[in-house]
Amino acid sequence: MSRKRTPRSALFCPQCGSADLYYEAALITGYKYHCKKCGYIGAFVIEKDLEREG
Ligand SMILES: [Zn+2]
Repeated sequence: MSRKRTPRSALFCPQCGSADLYYEAALITGYKYHCKKCGYIGAFVIEKDLEREG
């Protein structure tokens, strides 16, 4: 089954839990995320589905 709605998800910092992440291009790995709050940099972030119905 396919949905037309794009799934809404948000990314959270695994270190401090902040959603204040921005995407940063990296040379080898391709991409990384950078947390504004605690300064975490890495490809691993926590992704939470925000899809809500009702
Ligand atoms: Zn953080």
